[in-house]
Amino acid sequence: MANKGNIGVTTENIFPVIKKFLYSDHEIFLREMVSNAVDATQKLKTLAISGDFKGEEGDLTIHINVDKKKGTLTISDHGIGMTEEEIDKYINQIAFSGANDFLDKYKDTANGIIGHFGLGFYSAFMVSKKVEIITKGYKEDAKAVKWSCDGSPEFEIKDAKREERGTDIILYIDDDCKEFLEQNKIIELLGKYCKFLPVPVACGKKTEWKDGKSVETKEDNIINEKEALWTKAPSTLKDEDYKDFYRYLYPYTDEPLFWIHLNVDYPFNLTGILYFPRISSNIDLQKNKIQLYCNNVFVTDQVEGIVPEFLTLLHGVIDSPDIPLNVSRSYLQSDANVKKISTYITKKVADRLASIFKENRKEYEEKWDKLKLFIHYGMLSKEDFYDKAKDFSLLKDTEGKFFTYEEYKTLITTEQTDRDGNLIYLYATDKEEQYSYIEAAKEKGYSVLLMDGDLDVALLGMLEQKMEKSRFSRVDSDIISRLINKEEKKKEKKDDKKDDEKKEDSPLVKAFKEALPKIENTEFTIEEQSMGEGAQPVMIIQSEYMRRMKDMSRFQSGMGFYGQMPNMYTLVLNTDNTFIKQAENEAETVKQLIDLALLQNGMLKGEALSEFLKRSYTFIGK
Ligand code: ADP
Repeated sequence: MANKGNIGVTTENIFPVIKKFLYSDHEIFLREMVSNAVDATQKLKTLAISGDFKGEEGDLTIHINVDKKKGTLTISDHGIGMTEEEIDKYINQIAFSGANDFLDKYKDTANGIIGHFGLGFYSAFMVSKKVEIITKGYKEDAKAVKWSCDGSPEFEIKDAKREERGTDIILYIDDDCKEFLEQNKIIELLGKYCKFLPVPVACGKKTEWKDGKSVETKEDNIINEKEALWTKAPSTLKDEDYKDFYRYLYPYTDEPLFWIHLNVDYPFNLTGILYFPRISSNIDLQKNKIQLYCNNVFVTDQVEGIVPEFLTLLHGVIDSPDIPLNVSRSYLQSDANVKKISTYITKKVADRLASIFKENRKEYEEKWDKLKLFIHYGMLSKEDFYDKAKDFSLLKDTEGKFFTYEEYKTLITTEQTDRDGNLIYLYATDKEEQYSYIEAAKEKGYSVLLMDGDLDVALLGMLEQKMEKSRFSRVDSDIISRLINKEEKKKEKKDDKKDDEKKEDSPLVKAFKEALPKIENTEFTIEEQSMGEGAQPVMIIQSEYMRRMKDMSRFQSGMGFYGQMPNMYTLVLNTDNTFIKQAENEAETVKQLIDLALLQNGMLKGEALSEFLKRSYTFIGK
């Protein structure tokens, strides 16, 4: 019996449309074919359990075969198969009506592109000039049938010979898609999309090294040997399982810091494992990404929109049947489920970090330096994450001690509140470069934070806005007595006046001004201060405001103005210091004192440095 008919599609040119719209993603046809084979196999297993299928299950491995000579790619399963009626119902009617919907919906909007539904079986026509289905249902009296279609809305169905239950989908690959006739290409694609499918998928044979070359063995090459760890109950898994799975996902990557096993079934379905990676370079950030799956089938590693931006830095797997498979970016952003998922993931990540912090603070502190990038990024970019993270985000002082924001505030309130009631957080960005400033602050009984992370400058700007009456000042932004200004206001007003009246430079200031070497793009003002006999003779400071503006102009566009401005520093002369007293009459001493201050700040270079060395040697010689 042979049957011919018209597929239930009104638009004649459905296939060109499929091809055109899905052009960039041709390879997904394989994912669709193998998923269908897996579904058919799973259905058979279910029928066997319920007793509706009483025969032998046999080997259920799905085989993908490439026949270069015939130009075919065949996907074979031992699933439930289809009867002629079922082909008519599921292939001719339903699936095409899906394609029809697709056309209807998007005929006017070329950029609306892919809709909410998988094209499923018909994606085969993206790469094939002809498709055949040879199938035999699971029931005892089932007859094998063969369906074929050459890409026009016409199909043909006739009796066929097939001994075993199951389905072969035979794709006659198009001339312009020849890459899908390369077995290596198919294995690569199966590795990408089908690595975690729950039924064995085989393509080609395993190879082994023999006599210095790789030879085929008789054993099937199974693509999906590893289980999808995220589908298992967290209580049954050990740390080693998670680490092992991570190594499988991202070979040659350092062990992760922490992980989070996600598992929700209401109001949407989502499972997954997210890992906090140990990032050591920018390249790591680009290379490994979160992988999105839909019922164990890989969909994409472009999860922007599904996962909040700061969490795209994480690694791992998310699996949700509620995230539409073939979707455009703009579609994702408007999908209500997707929005809920993003909020849920943010909350889960925050909760998990909070509990690690609470339960194992020591370990958390040890990993903080690697972890803080994620946390700071999250706090800076998501308000609801900030609200949670402020309780487990840490500050580290220059001695390596960690504090929560609350703890640190309590620590410094007594010593570091200025005359206006502002709490002053002192920080250093480099322990070595700012060594003497840090020491001076510590001597005065102050605590100094180490803020050396990529996002620390941005973070402290935000913290100043969030925390009441709090300011951050770098240790070298002023002389120690003014860093936290505790003097009564009145007294200073008097001083100010005195300063105003003093218009002429003192002989001391003049001497220093004349001796200052020219440094490109750098300007100095000179100031006299009585800082006590023990303090350094000359200090270089840069105001907190100026430095931050300069820093920010490097990262933010629209602030170029600050970038072009010269670096402005103040050279503070300690009038109590004996060298300064002596300097007034000794030009050589002035030069030497300036150079020592520049040297201390890494600003003495080139010719000036060489001069300084020569001068110093003559001092030794004296
Ligand atoms: P979906 O899989 O989303 O239902 P498809 O277009 O991929 O849509 O497939 C349509 C239907 O064809 C399936 O639901 C299934 O009933 C049937 N089908 C496809 N492939 C197979 C197969 N390998 N074995 C048995 N039935 C299949």
